[in-house]
Amino acid sequence: MVIKTATFVSSNTRIDKLPAPEMPEYAFIGRSNVGKSSLINALTGRRHLAKTSQTPGKTQVINHFLINDAWYLVDLPGYGFAKTSKSNRVAWEKFIRRYLLQRESLQCVFVLIDSRHDPQRIDLDFCYWLGENGIPFMLVFTKADKQTRTKSDANIDKFRKALLQWFEEVPQHFLTSAETRMGCEPLLDTIDDINRN
Ligand code: GDP
Repeated sequence: MVIKTATFVSSNTRIDKLPAPEMPEYAFIGRSNVGKSSLINALTGRRHLAKTSQTPGKTQVINHFLINDAWYLVDLPGYGFAKTSKSNRVAWEKFIRRYLLQRESLQCVFVLIDSRHDPQRIDLDFCYWLGENGIPFMLVFTKADKQTRTKSDANIDKFRKALLQWFEEVPQHFLTSAETRMGCEPLLDTIDDINRN
């Protein structure tokens, strides 16, 4: 898919203020620092569309970007801040879970996972919750340029095996790098395919 236009639409702290659900939308989520903003910028070819390295604990917002006047790319707040308070965490969960469960135009959630690490409980739990609730998701392993392909593949394999303890099938995955744009075209083409069907 060629990205012709990518524009910021809105930043919301409330579900009832989100743009009307008139376009298919794709949400990106992951632990803070997983490389979400960098990947969104790499996917769209806009260096500063999503703001990188937001301070943990800041107001949690849902950002909508309109792509090619045809679909929304949605930047969800990161989870797993080491320093956040319990009340912040609970508020995050309520807000995001409500969005994920209720957003009728949501086509797929892209769960970002750092390809350098062994499977992390928080990522596995989140995938489990999505699966249990019937929310379609795919896995996006980030920062592939930071280590060898063998190492990334080994971590992907471990993550998939961990999910197979719960699910009969593991969703599609992508290995990406915001630095080299590895994996960006396959991911965008997948969105294109879903939009066409
Ligand atoms: P976010 O908190 O998930 O939005 O993460 P950011 O996009 O702000 O990235 C966190 C840090 O990882 C920043 O220092 C980025 O430059 C770095 N980073 C993100 N993606 C990549 C990548 O694909 N390759 C490399 N080498 N660094 C990355």
